Amino acid sequence: MNFDKEFFSSVDTVIFDMGGVLIDLDKPRAIEAYRKLGFSDIENFMSCHLQRGMFLQADSGLVSSAQFRDAVREHIGNPGIPDEAIDSAWTDILVGLPRCRLDAIKRIRTKFRTLLLSNISEIDWIFCQKNYFSEPGYTTEDLFEKIYLSYLMKAVKPNPEIMERLIADSGIDPKRTMFVDDAPANCRMAETFGIRTYTPAPREDWTGIFKNAF
Ligand SMILES: [Mg+2]
Repeated sequence: MNFDKEFFSSVDTVIFDMGGVLIDLDKPRAIEAYRKLGFSDIENFMSCHLQRGMFLQADSGLVSSAQFRDAVREHIGNPGIPDEAIDSAWTDILVGLPRCRLDAIKRIRTKFRTLLLSNISEIDWIFCQKNYFSEPGYTTEDLFEKIYLSYLMKAVKPNPEIMERLIADSGIDPKRTMFVDDAPANCRMAETFGIRTYTPAPREDWTGIFKNAF
């Protein structure tokens, strides 16, 4: 895909993923944190782009944060692990949100509708709100017209249902929409709706692809 002036003149909406696009991820760090808690087979639950077991259930909103923590304690076989330790092991996956990306989205929002579509649990969302989107002018409301979170929608990418509902709710025209997500499967799903996509590599500075947008 050539992200030239002509491309951007045919786009009026940009949907952003969060983990791996806005926020850089360090999965080995979270895996190590869980292993230290005694979760010896954690690799089987934290896979490349989609979690499994109780992690997927928490992202899908099928269990509450309290039920997720109980499931972790039960799996490890240690009822004494505090909530904060379980939460901080998960949020260890989140390593930072460069300011230039926030500034890029603010600028993009001056010309395009901006939406957020994230597979995320309540635990990680609360952490992100507090640590990455709390500054005046840089809240999620400042950056995005609307926010779609898997744990509230009870659906996860790449299940097409989540995109169907985003389209119905936001009223976007998929043919005039661009989707930025680091998971190839999520992009392929979006393309079945006629949405054009960009898949950044880990920690890529993707802001440059918008240089022809203005
Ligand atoms: Mg992602």
